[in-house]
Amino acid sequence: MIKFEQVTKRYETGQEALSNVSFHIERGQMVFLTGHSGAGKSTLLKLIMRMETPTSGRVQIAGQNLTQLDRKDIPFYRRHIGVVFQNHQLLFDRSVYENVALPMRISGHSEHDIGKRVRAALDKVGLLHKEKVSPVALSTGEQQRVGIARAVVNKPALLLADEPTGNLDPELSQEIMTLFKDFQRVGVTVLIASHDHELIQSMALPVMTLAEGQLVNFS
Ligand code: ADP
Ligand code: ADP
Repeated sequence: MIKFEQVTKRYETGQEALSNVSFHIERGQMVFLTGHSGAGKSTLLKLIMRMETPTSGRVQIAGQNLTQLDRKDIPFYRRHIGVVFQNHQLLFDRSVYENVALPMRISGHSEHDIGKRVRAALDKVGLLHKEKVSPVALSTGEQQRVGIARAVVNKPALLLADEPTGNLDPELSQEIMTLFKDFQRVGVTVLIASHDHELIQSMALPVMTLAEGQLVNFS
């Protein structure tokens, strides 16, 4: 599902963010990506989202070589990836329902499909009863769950999370991980960037470790 072959990313500044990184994550795997600040985690996620391109080497997602992806196909490609951020980036002037509906509206789905999928996604994260309220009225953990519902509403085959539990206490973090596990169980590939050691150790999942742009461990 995610295949990096000797990927190096050097920014215009000359900074080498990833150095000769190779790995393969199979469909349906759930994997942690860890490493100190500046190790290259965000760069790796941006390469998968095709927000950056490698300086050398190959990134293949679901068999597709991203370097060969046409510029006009990039928005379409990104719809197949769900992304969860630490600071969930919800719109506070819209209801929970509308926040989750947003990616589907962008994709141009019918109102009928949107309603069905939004409610399925909200049900999945246990927030169906909050569909009409503004995210302002929700707790931090609930807001993060709305962010997850929005990330999965298009049923992506790949779910990326960048420090998804950064603002949450250990109990809420476990809840979020349980949700990710549920998606993995239905076949979604999940990659979670985190430097929460306790969380990572509590989870018995494969861990990829980056250090100064090098993949130093994947086990
Ligand atoms: P992490 O997410 O692990 O903190 P990043 O991928 O953000 O690591 O950064 C890896 C390295 O690349 C760091 O040295 C960072 O300063 C540098 N970097 C990240 N983004 C850019 C950019 N747009 N331009 C130049 N250097 C960058
Ligand atoms: P369909 O459109 O096939 O009728 P639904 O939209 O009713 O399917 O959703 C079916 C189930 O899939 C729901 O329980 C929904 O929560 C769940 N689901 C949500 N996101 C994903 C995803 N990313 N991958 C797989 N299943 C998902």
